[in-house]
Amino acid sequence: MAFDRSPHFCLQYTMTRTPRLINFTPWDGDYFNPQTIREILSACPKLHGSRCIPKPLPATGLPPGFRLVDVKTQNIVQKQELVRYVALSYMWGDGNELKLEWKNVELLSKPGGLRDLRLSGVIADAMSLCEELGERYIWIDRI
Ligand SMILES: [Zn+2]
Repeated sequence: MAFDRSPHFCLQYTMTRTPRLINFTPWDGDYFNPQTIREILSACPKLHGSRCIPKPLPATGLPPGFRLVDVKTQNIVQKQELVRYVALSYMWGDGNELKLEWKNVELLSKPGGLRDLRLSGVIADAMSLCEELGERYIWIDRI
């Protein structure tokens, strides 16, 4: 899998009970193997036990306005139940990129609503990776 829309880095962690970042370098290659991340994600509950197993949703439910991107249906969704998701926190652009606002929330919530839009490279790459990882939902701190 090649990412060509955003800069990419290699983060190296210890494979210990409490993972610790031990190296951070620009990624020179144009190849990335999502299988490596899939393996780490599947090992996580075994290595970290209850710390990494989702807890039941509190009676108050999800926070109001909590939205995810469904990479399968390519739209913004609000789930009533707790679903597994990956997260993207990133350095926001100059403000000219697509933003979720009251005026476009209905459009972006329709299936396929994100498909033909010009998303920032970081978001487009994160959605691709999410799909490659076999995950359906991604939380993005700003879209
Ligand atoms: Zn874990």
